[in-house]
Amino acid sequence: MATITPIEGRTVHQIQSGQVIVDLCSVVKELVENSLDAGATSIDVRFKNQGLESIEVQDNGDGISPHNYETIALKHHTSKLATYSDLSTLQTFGFRGEALSSLCALSNFTITTCMAADAPKGTKLEFEVSGKLKGTSVVAAQKGTMVSVENLFNNLPVRRRELERNIKREWSRVVGVLGQYACIQTGIKFTVTQQAGKGKKTVLFSTKGNRTTRENIVNVFGAKTLTALVPLGLNLELEPTSAPSQRWLTQEDGEKKNIRIVGHISRPASGEGRQTPDRQMFFVNGRPCGLPQVAKAFNEVYKSYNAAQSPFIFANIELDTHLYDVNVSPDKRTILLHDQTRMLDSLKEALTALFDSQDYTVPVSQL
Ligand code: ADP
Ligand code: MG
Repeated sequence: MATITPIEGRTVHQIQSGQVIVDLCSVVKELVENSLDAGATSIDVRFKNQGLESIEVQDNGDGISPHNYETIALKHHTSKLATYSDLSTLQTFGFRGEALSSLCALSNFTITTCMAADAPKGTKLEFEVSGKLKGTSVVAAQKGTMVSVENLFNNLPVRRRELERNIKREWSRVVGVLGQYACIQTGIKFTVTQQAGKGKKTVLFSTKGNRTTRENIVNVFGAKTLTALVPLGLNLELEPTSAPSQRWLTQEDGEKKNIRIVGHISRPASGEGRQTPDRQMFFVNGRPCGLPQVAKAFNEVYKSYNAAQSPFIFANIELDTHLYDVNVSPDKRTILLHDQTRMLDSLKEALTALFDSQDYTVPVSQL
C-alpha cells in the first residue's frame, strides 16, 4: 500500500501559485490592485507582445520600505490583513499575500521600488522561485514601484502553450479588465501600452485622472458610447426579514438595509448595444468582479424594452462590507452576495421603473 507523506514545500508552492495566477488577466489584475492599494495616482501598464514577452506595471505609490524587502514575496505575507476578522471590513483589494509569491514561482520576476525620500535612487529586487529575496541593487528610479513579469508560465509548459494558443482571446479579456479599472477609478491616470516585437509602442487607452466615471468612459470607450448612456441610480431597499438566516441583512434596530447601484447603462433606444464582454462591467464597492446572475437580471429587463440588442452596462453595487464575501476563489473575482435572490428581484423592479420613467423603448420601426 502507498505511504502517505506530506508534499514537499516547494511543490506545494508551485501547485498553489498556478491557482492564484491562472492566466494573463490575473497577473494584470493583481499588479494593478497592488498599485491601487499603494495609493498610486498614476499607473502605467506596458505589454511586450501582448504580455507573452513581458508585463510591466509602474506606479507612483508609496514604494516599499527596505524592512519589507525580505518578506514581500513570501507566501501569505501581506501588509493588508492581520486577523481573520479583518476580512469582513476589508477596504483594500489585496489581502491574501499570494500574488507576488506566485509570480516568483511562475515567471522571471523583479521589482524596482523607491520611497519618496530616496528618489532618484531606487532598489531593484530579485527573487528565488520560492519568493525568497535573492539580491538587491541600486538603480535610478522615481517614487513608486515597478513590477516586471517576463516569460509568464515559463515552467508550466502546458499552461504556456495554452496561453500562446489563446492569446487573442486572453488579450481582449486583459484589455477589457484594464478598461474596467480605468473607468471605475476616478482621480487616477491609467496608461496602457503595447509593443509588438521591436515595433513602435501603441497606446491602447489612457485616462487623465478625471473626476468622474463618465469622463473615464469617454477616454476608454470613446465619446460616441457616452451619448447612448443614461445614468444608473437604483436604490434597492430590502425589507427587514424575520427569517433567522437573513436577520443579519437588516440592522439591529430593524431598519432597512440600502443597496445602491450606480453607474451608466445604454438607453434601450440608443442603438448602442453590441454585446461584447468588455461592454458589460460590474463592480462591488469599486472592485471589478464577475457577477453572472446580476448581468442576467440586467439583460432580462433590457430585453423587454429592446429585444434586438444587449446594453452597455457599467454598474457599481455599493453595499455594506458585511453583505458580501470576496474570499470565494483565489483570484477574488467571484463574489458571494448575501441574499442574492431578493436583491435581484429588487434590482429588476428598480430597473424597470427607471426605463418606464422615460420613453426609453425602441420604436418597432427601428428594430
Ligand atoms: P496582498 O496584496 O494580498 O497583500 P501581494 O502578494 O499582492 O499580496 O503583495 C504583498 C505585499 O507587497 C503587499 O501587502 C504590499 O505591502 C506590497 N506591495 C505589493 N505591490 C506593491 C506596490 N506596487 N507598491 C507598494 N507595495 C506593494
Ligand atoms: Mg496584492
